[in-house]
Amino acid sequence: MISYKKDKKGKIINQNYIEKLVKAHKSNWLDRAKKKTDKYRTAGKVTDKNGHIWSEIKEVFMTIQGNKCAFCETELEGQNYGKGVHDVEHFRPKNRITKWKPSKEFNSLGISITSTTNIKGYHLLTYNLLNYSMSCGPCNQTLKSDRFPIKGSYKNHMEDPKAEFNDEEPLLIYPIADIDTDCEELICFEGPVPKAVKTTGLEYERAQTTIDFFRLARADERSKLFKERSEVILLINIFIGSESDTSKYDDLVGTLISDTSKHANCTRSYLELLKNDPVKAKEIFNEARQFIATYIPDSELG
Ligand SMILES: [Zn+2]
Repeated sequence: MISYKKDKKGKIINQNYIEKLVKAHKSNWLDRAKKKTDKYRTAGKVTDKNGHIWSEIKEVFMTIQGNKCAFCETELEGQNYGKGVHDVEHFRPKNRITKWKPSKEFNSLGISITSTTNIKGYHLLTYNLLNYSMSCGPCNQTLKSDRFPIKGSYKNHMEDPKAEFNDEEPLLIYPIADIDTDCEELICFEGPVPKAVKTTGLEYERAQTTIDFFRLARADERSKLFKERSEVILLINIFIGSESDTSKYDDLVGTLISDTSKHANCTRSYLELLKNDPVKAKEIFNEARQFIATYIPDSELG
């Protein structure tokens, strides 16, 4: 997982930036979204059953994220064909909060999570641009859905995620714009395996929760992700693993570590390791090679 805080030209991605993209894509969307939000404010809930308009601007988020899943960094289908497959994800759920069941391993870490019994969703964030991202089917439909674990108290009348983002001590990381901590200050990789950068405190807990929530460290459940990360490690080794002068591969490396390349956090972490601990990097390369050589898609397991 990485954050999308700057575009390719180095421009800061913030609310203003996203609004401009939305306006250019669909000139009346912001006005229509405001009218809907005003209606929900009066009613105290989301009143539309049909006629939702967030899908109309999914291309904006596909562009910001370089067609990658916001949470697992897998590559999504491009805009031409992906529009019909992927949808906008609400970071804070709009209708209700449902219970997240952490893994046994997560429970053993002793991280406390606020109860979600009878918690309404964030109806005033249904059309808030700082509550959106694009994500893949497994991350969005299967794993995320209406779940939203936090440590503090639910403030489901929240209207301004920029000002109020941290009030609830959210345990998931929001990767777009300037409202949350940079993902890579919280999560890094050892080979294909994500891990928390910190060892204690809320930042450690947020990293552990995000990793467990999206099953990012589970090679058995998300074998496709592990295969893709292993392929990047293999690719780096094929080109620059044993080279003393790596400058001739700068173009390739530049592409692999760019925000819009899949598994950029894993790639950046591996390149650091290659520099700082080549013996460990070699060990991980051999494991990645072995993983790919024996890879079986999980639909064929059992
Ligand atoms: Zn994903």
